[in-house]
Amino acid sequence: MKPARNPKPSAENARVTCSVCGSRFYFDETDAPPFCSQRCKAIDLNRWLDEEISLPHEGGPKMGEVVELDEGED
Ligand SMILES: [Zn+2]
Repeated sequence: MKPARNPKPSAENARVTCSVCGSRFYFDETDAPPFCSQRCKAIDLNRWLDEEISLPHEGGPKMGEVVELDEGED
């Protein structure tokens, strides 16, 4: 016969994996969702900021400074 006790808590559904440190935590227990802690949230934020800084600035498509010299046409 199987034991009547269910080893898995009902809150199992609320358990998620932190994308920063990879640790599992309960969504209800974190103070910085969807991360496990404020530290991981800050780390993720710094990642994005770091990527933005490394990206080249897009100032829009420039048509190029084409100067046509009409000299000579008299
Ligand atoms: Zn984490």
